[in-house]
Amino acid sequence: MTAGLRVVEPTPVLRVRDLVKEYGEGDARVRALRGVSLDVQQGDYVAIMGASGSGKSTLMNILGCLDVPTSGTYLIDGADVGRLDERQLAILRNRRVGFVFQSFNLIPRMSALANVELPLVYGGVPQAERRARALAALEQVGLSDRVHHEPNQLSGGQQQRVAVARALVTAPALLLADEPTGNLDTASTHDVLQILDRLSESGRTIVCITHEDDVAAHAKRVVRLVDGEIVEDRRQAPVDGPPPRTAAG
Ligand code: ADP
Ligand code: MG
Repeated sequence: MTAGLRVVEPTPVLRVRDLVKEYGEGDARVRALRGVSLDVQQGDYVAIMGASGSGKSTLMNILGCLDVPTSGTYLIDGADVGRLDERQLAILRNRRVGFVFQSFNLIPRMSALANVELPLVYGGVPQAERRARALAALEQVGLSDRVHHEPNQLSGGQQQRVAVARALVTAPALLLADEPTGNLDTASTHDVLQILDRLSESGRTIVCITHEDDVAAHAKRVVRLVDGEIVEDRRQAPVDGPPPRTAAG
């Protein structure tokens, strides 16, 4: 810390600088990200769009600390991820980031409740508190009447709502979703998007990958990737929402 310096802007939840990711070597080398820079402030709801192969999942996996960049830096909640040791990284991943995947990624033969409790088990939260927080998270996604169901006893939409509850239960600074409605029918897509809308209204910070305009229409801001580069970054009026503020932020 530099003494006497006061930061005027609040610390962004996400600060990404010149992120590069290369896969493979020599002739097989693929540059999946070619210098991506991006700030996301608390409470923002960002849709990251782009064609298949444009680098969306690569970016998401790095932001979620599931993969490491070839070069560049990024800060989550002020923590410089590249400088963390394994233990600090595990804590950051567990507590500060919630992940929702296209394919739900629930653990089979475990109840919805047990699935949602799992991040708290890893986080060392005592059992009674774990239970209470998992039940509250399931209530938030409208699944109080399904807490003892296992994934194969739930519809796709319900499974994804369990996954959202699991992502939320640690009260993360950032919710990351990679094509969260990609495997869902229209009605379930609507349910999940409504939940994300409500979370956004309550101040959550959301970054959602999608290639569908209907999904991106729910976000406050749309970032477009082409071949691993940001080519567009704009604010928009959310669905049924107030008009956008200026693009300055
Ligand atoms: P998107 O999610 O936008 O479809 P990805 O991030 O999955 O794009 O992929 C971006 C580029 O990186 C693609 O050209 C893809 O083939 C390549 N790629 C992704 N993952 C790997 C990997 N593990 N090994 C090699 N190339 C990869
Ligand atoms: Mg992808």
